[in-house]
Amino acid sequence: MPQKIIYADNAATTAVSRSVLEAMLPFFTEDFGNASAMYKTGRNAARAVLKARESAAAALGGNAEPREIFFTSGGTESDNWAVKGAAMLGAAVRTAFVQKRHIVTTAVEHHAVLKSCAALEKQGFSVTYLPPDEFGRVTAEQVAAAITPQTCLVSVMTANNEVGTIMPVAEIGAVCRERGVLFHTDAVQAVGQIPVDVNKMNIDLLSLSGHKLHAPKGIGALYVRKGIELPPFMDGGAQERGRRAGTENVPAIVGLGQALTDAVTDLSERAERLSALRDELICGLLAIPETRLNGHPTERLPGNVNISVRGIEGESLLLMLDMKGICASSGSACASGSGEPSHVLLACGLPRELAQSSLRLTIGGDTSAEDITAIITAVTESVEKLRSLSPYWQRLSH
Ligand SMILES: *Cc1c(COP(=O)(O)O)cnc(C)c1O
Repeated sequence: MPQKIIYADNAATTAVSRSVLEAMLPFFTEDFGNASAMYKTGRNAARAVLKARESAAAALGGNAEPREIFFTSGGTESDNWAVKGAAMLGAAVRTAFVQKRHIVTTAVEHHAVLKSCAALEKQGFSVTYLPPDEFGRVTAEQVAAAITPQTCLVSVMTANNEVGTIMPVAEIGAVCRERGVLFHTDAVQAVGQIPVDVNKMNIDLLSLSGHKLHAPKGIGALYVRKGIELPPFMDGGAQERGRRAGTENVPAIVGLGQALTDAVTDLSERAERLSALRDELICGLLAIPETRLNGHPTERLPGNVNISVRGIEGESLLLMLDMKGICASSGSACASGSGEPSHVLLACGLPRELAQSSLRLTIGGDTSAEDITAIITAVTESVEKLRSLSPYWQRLSH
């Protein structure tokens, strides 16, 4: 019998769902026309893109408008566009007294935001990286204190991809609105997990990504509040109203629209079920001696579990779990393989040793109660085995 696989790495990527796949299929071979074309298959494609734009707007709160949605190649592109575009808008403000070349962000952002900020620093922008508390959270007060007359952008993620901590985005949005500063949030992990409303939360720019919510990889969107003249990200044709040129990836856009509709349907029921499984998993894992929970105990994504296991290399644990058919991650997928401990865990104040001994399990709609039990057993056994083999652990515990 083939080994049963338990997939617990939904924060890295998700499977394309059946409803998404079915929505996409006709646009590969039947309505494959260019959405700019005049004939019927092109018009059908254009209509499908419009419908997806409406679904995306609806998923971001009742009053978001389809014309505020711009399809991109994913979360990374959306983050790059938002941060660098807002910086260009800031740099264009040039009065005798004010140079808007300052950005406020956090030390726990995804690298798509952090490296965009680093690139801007090389061009003369200054960036404040707010330090989070031990749970990975920054406060609206910290944001307020960091804003200066030079600030052109505040970028704070809605929820963290590694530790699952949810930021007080509505409060931060209110501060930004009051101070007249653009507010971007990377909501890639949040959309479909917790309620997101761009108007209630005063969000000006919002990044989302398809493959984190059961649409394919390589598709995403940037919400741009109307009235913000964000410079184009791609120059070329008139697609996406001239701001993101390139022939539309119609099947992927249709898939994203379907995924977003699915993601906000019964959101609270799904989140409740997932949170209960998550808490059971956390409870079972913390029963292993010398483990700690990373991230916030309550302000936490429904599907995220992140623990550190003293005396264990995260990577070794992953290999053992893989042999038992469990897909998990250590730190972020991007950081794994680099050998560097997670910048998020370090920013939360973990010593390098504990940051390197982290395990992230992100469960999803397919996860069952039996899976949770199986994961707890597998991690417990693997940790015991690894510790029994570790001279370092023997020294620690004696
Ligand atoms: C995955 C992820 C991204 C990048 O999205 P891609 O679509 O993979 O480029 C950005 N931010 C966060 C928080 C993510 O989890």
